[in-house]
Amino acid sequence: MPKYVYDFHEGNKDMADLLGGKGANLAEMTTMGLPVPPGFTITTEACRAYLATGAQPAELADEVELHLHGMERRMGRKLGQVDAPLLVSVRSGGRYSMPGMMETVLDIGLTDESVHGLAAWTDDHRLAWDSYRRLLHMFGQTVLGIDPTHFTAALADAKTAKGVTGDLDLDTADLMRLAQRFKAIIREQTGRDFPQDPHEQLDLAIRAVFNSWNTERARIYRRAEHIPHDLGTAVTVCAMVFGNLGMDSGTGVAFTRDPATGRPGAYGDYLADAQGEDVVAGIRNTLPLAELARLHPVPYAQLTEIMRTLEHHYRDLCDIEFTIERGRLWMLQTRVGKRTAAAAFRIADALRAEGLIDDDEALRRVTGAQLTQLMFPRFSADTSLPRIATGVAASPGAAVGQAVFDSATAVAWSQRGIDVILVRQETNPDDLDGLIHAQGVLTSHGGKTSHAAVVARGLGRTCVCGADELEIDPAARRCTGRGGVVVTEGDTISIDGTSGAVYLGSVPVEPSPIVEYFQGRLQADADSLVRAVDRIVRHADNRRHLGVLANADTPADAQRAHQFGAEGIGLCRTEHMFLGDRRELVERLILADTDTERAAALAALLPLQRADFVGILTAMNGLPVTIRLLDPPLNEFLPDHTELATRVAVADATGHPDPAATRLLRAVQRLHEQNPMLGLRGVRLGLVVPGLYDMQVRAIAEAAAQCAKDGGQPEAEIMIPLVGDARELAVISDRAATVLAAVRTETGIALPHRIGTMIELPRAALTAGRIATWAQFFSFGTNDLTQTTWGMSRDDVEGAFFPAYLDQGIFAVSPFQTIDRDGVGRLMTLAVREGRAQRPDLTIGVCGEHGGDPDSIHFCHDIGLDYVSCSPFRVPVARLEAGRAAIGESTTDSR
Ligand code: ADP
Ligand code: MG
Ligand code: MG
Repeated sequence: MPKYVYDFHEGNKDMADLLGGKGANLAEMTTMGLPVPPGFTITTEACRAYLATGAQPAELADEVELHLHGMERRMGRKLGQVDAPLLVSVRSGGRYSMPGMMETVLDIGLTDESVHGLAAWTDDHRLAWDSYRRLLHMFGQTVLGIDPTHFTAALADAKTAKGVTGDLDLDTADLMRLAQRFKAIIREQTGRDFPQDPHEQLDLAIRAVFNSWNTERARIYRRAEHIPHDLGTAVTVCAMVFGNLGMDSGTGVAFTRDPATGRPGAYGDYLADAQGEDVVAGIRNTLPLAELARLHPVPYAQLTEIMRTLEHHYRDLCDIEFTIERGRLWMLQTRVGKRTAAAAFRIADALRAEGLIDDDEALRRVTGAQLTQLMFPRFSADTSLPRIATGVAASPGAAVGQAVFDSATAVAWSQRGIDVILVRQETNPDDLDGLIHAQGVLTSHGGKTSHAAVVARGLGRTCVCGADELEIDPAARRCTGRGGVVVTEGDTISIDGTSGAVYLGSVPVEPSPIVEYFQGRLQADADSLVRAVDRIVRHADNRRHLGVLANADTPADAQRAHQFGAEGIGLCRTEHMFLGDRRELVERLILADTDTERAAALAALLPLQRADFVGILTAMNGLPVTIRLLDPPLNEFLPDHTELATRVAVADATGHPDPAATRLLRAVQRLHEQNPMLGLRGVRLGLVVPGLYDMQVRAIAEAAAQCAKDGGQPEAEIMIPLVGDARELAVISDRAATVLAAVRTETGIALPHRIGTMIELPRAALTAGRIATWAQFFSFGTNDLTQTTWGMSRDDVEGAFFPAYLDQGIFAVSPFQTIDRDGVGRLMTLAVREGRAQRPDLTIGVCGEHGGDPDSIHFCHDIGLDYVSCSPFRVPVARLEAGRAAIGESTTDSR
């Protein structure tokens, strides 16, 4: 038979699944000998049984009675006893903290009779009636489901009638009248009287707490926080202590360190003559903890001592609730406290320095997501500019620009060099171009999974969405914000994707000190935050098995990646090297009718390519640089079809035909593809465009030879994209070997050049064993592998239906953000196994955005990859998470 009720003496902090965080930690504090009022906790199991059947388990009532008797014996008072009543609180609390989402009822046990007993026993009539009216209100609202405005309106009336503003200005007689009024409200609203049997009150309150697990707001909260719906809440019943027994009593909340900055020193708020939520409800101004030291030195000293004890015991920042009853301190709650990203790093490093935790534990306590937050530029803290709205912080960053109200304007203005913020009620796939060209996007509708949010995160644009204070009028090209402030097209606004704030005007942006540190502009000891990041990331480096490389196409990017700690370039794309002025050479290559014409075009491209590679190999001297041969379809290098067709038509119509344009148009039409993603691209280009890959291989080899001649240590690797069959790679490898041998003879410099392939088609993964015969390394192109495995073109689907898929729970997260372990991941696992079986020293890595995603990095660690390669900005995060994966920590923050 299950045990449904645990006395505080029977539990401990590791029983949060069963007792909820609150119950488990109250038990822990009791066992530690801290002053906790007696109490017991009803398990989450009882709640689950209740929610499943609609009835409390048969044994529960007896168990509750039994524990209640124990409590009554210890207190020497009985629940609802007429002369000296025991009162209890009935509190909710599940495995994960859900602040303010579920219910608590205080002062259970007060009745028309026992209220007099309480007054006599405490010698405080005001306290008794104050507590009674609180019970009537809370019970009426949470247990009986009465609209709380009935109670708050009656309270306001009482104050108005008396001509006062504060609750404390009401005297005993006022509170007595208020209690009568509240009882009348209960009768009017429910057709029955407030229950005068304390045991019935207790029973109803327990059921109400069980039921509060399933309120709409609790469900919404859990969905947002990824907390399972089937855990249930525990119910803690705890003897009441009174912070509302006059000015030598009070109640407060405190943190053992500052949860905002992580700096040491207790931090909290205290309110004299108050109970329960008064502190956080903001009905009166609270005092900082330091004031408590002056007011009540003895309990304050005890509190400080307890906070120190708790921090040592939990080895972490704790947050607590306490009450002082006539000078006597009581602990009502503790838990490991939530904290900001900066605080997480500072606290982990400080606790390590104090010897409470070791370096591994410090590494466990911070996440890549937190490090990312610290790397975005931020608005300088003290802005006096008017805040015109607050929305959902959907994609981090600090963006400043001129407001525009449609995507066409965003594109046009940004092409004129103006920074813009796209302001829309909501966005749709037609806004993609506008989003790309904007610094950030601001919407008045939609949440974190709205189109704007999903696309902005994908593009790395700042996004604030769902700012519903904004009245947006796209036709009039203006919006109206808080306080009637009007923003017209062209006005500068600032949006903070980390807090959701929207300002009129240009808030100064400052670079993140963490980025400054990585780029060598700040010393590691400049500040406690930088010091913490430095130490923890370096420890992750010591631990990780995964190498961390970067995706970079230019010497400047490569340089930056190296500063962030990249150990090489895992993906250097070459397509941008064919754009700009060189487009014309590519046109010549595509249009070439004869071998001579083609050779001439390639010969013109060769020295340009060589110079590109010299730049990158020099920037990454001594580190591997994996260069991918040309990948995109050729028509990406040709002019737009419509534009060209118009030009040709106009020329023909006006009697001045343009033969060059006509020829180009025919090529554009010939190369047009229905599905370019699945068309003539990657290795297929290398196989059908004579000389193209040979030219690139030659440029790489000559560049490396030149670097070596100049005393450098070039480490160029050649990577072939979109291979689906070993024979494709065999042909290209063969030709490359010929070119490499020729360059070796011509230059007299012998350099090893590894040749490998991307694994980005399901067929490549399925035939990896054979492909490994020809490849010295594999690099998973997880973007294309995800597209081809799911049969989804990323650009088409992300805006079109991903928000709906996320909303309906088909994805918990986009497979383009986190590697889909079940599908794409299985192909990868297979390719690793069969590739290494064929070639034991095969190097295997991942390139593409997944390489910087914490969950995906952990997956890469799990399947034994050699490295991840990601964008330079994500390199520090990859280093951190690779270290966390190596010490067996998950990516999520348990705090
Ligand atoms: P929450 O989970 O919202 O913090 P709690 O169950 O902690 O809810 O209770 C709400 C408030 O009532 C808190 O301020 C708490 O300290 C106070 N409280 C709870 N139980 C008691 C008690 N036995 N005596 C005095 N105050 C209590
Ligand atoms: Mg609490
Ligand atoms: Mg690809």
